Amino acid sequence: MMEIKFIERKELKEKPDMSTVTFGSTFTDYMLTASYNEENGWHDWTIEPYGPIQLAPTAVVLHYAQTVFEGLKAYNVNGEAVLFRPNENFARLNRSLERMSMAKIDEDDALFALKELLKVEKDWIPTGEGQSLYIRPFVFGDDHTLGVHPSTTYKFMILLSPVGGLFSAGTMGTTKIYVEDKFVRAVRGGVGEAKTGGNYAASMKAQEVAQSLGYDQVLWLDGVEQKYLEEVGAMNIFYVQNGELFTPQLNGSILPGVTRKSIIEFAKDAGYTVNEARIPLEDLDAGLKDGSITEVFGAGTAAVVAPVGELNIHGNKYVVGDGNVGPVAKEIYTTLTGIQNGKVEDKFNWIVK
Ligand code: PMP
Repeated sequence: MMEIKFIERKELKEKPDMSTVTFGSTFTDYMLTASYNEENGWHDWTIEPYGPIQLAPTAVVLHYAQTVFEGLKAYNVNGEAVLFRPNENFARLNRSLERMSMAKIDEDDALFALKELLKVEKDWIPTGEGQSLYIRPFVFGDDHTLGVHPSTTYKFMILLSPVGGLFSAGTMGTTKIYVEDKFVRAVRGGVGEAKTGGNYAASMKAQEVAQSLGYDQVLWLDGVEQKYLEEVGAMNIFYVQNGELFTPQLNGSILPGVTRKSIIEFAKDAGYTVNEARIPLEDLDAGLKDGSITEVFGAGTAAVVAPVGELNIHGNKYVVGDGNVGPVAKEIYTTLTGIQNGKVEDKFNWIVK
């Protein structure tokens, strides 16, 4: 494996009071950085004090948005740092890099670097119920000539941020969702399946409008006909109809979530029928109307499962089920978080120490 240089900081920060920490606002003492150029490939792997970086004002990322990121978590299980399916995240990182014409990274190198960073920072993994260390790997183009072109130089960085659970199983809340009928997040042939910054920039206006109407997040429809379900906020979407699970099939404009994949694998193993299909909004509407759809939930790393209590479909307001967290969402949440916390047997081999 490559060598990683360590630049020690003079003073370590004080660990935060986890009861007041908000998502993504506190960072650990150190970060990982690496650089890429055509001559040397990825080089200068360094663990250094967390802090600002220097960038030329012409850096490609600032103008043409060549940037991709990942999000995963480390958990403290009996004093040991564990990761949930990190290979899936680094594989997706490379698929995103490929789509954005950026330099790819050897997935084993990336995971090795993350493990080395976690060795230094393991005391930062919080131990409270639902708490974890959020990991943000990202890559951006930083060469400095204007003119639209793929950057010839890149930076890879990993940041670590202690986060609380969005909710614990007992207090799991529900969200209010607005079906977006004007803006779209991604189109077929575009970059929706890449975890690239522009997708999130493109999503903010709709989110802003939905929030001003009193909703938490939007449900995205496809960007071509605006007829088919895609995602909910920055999560994949599932619903339960007559005891079966439904989720939109991957189509190029949907981000292939690690949580989505894990739910499908777990649910099939647990005996559920899982339907990955092109799902018209009409089906969701009809199922909510006739009561055959009893649960709707988002799925992603941050919340694991985010049950939907209320949906606004083109002005028609529906309460999902009885408006509370349903049994399937609860079962999935308990199992996935249980595997992550070492309380449920890891029969799928998802945990990496
Ligand atoms: N869709 C989008 C647009 C996302 O940003 C995320 C979060 N990465 C997800 C889905 C869920 O993916 P994962 O389960 O890998 O966190």
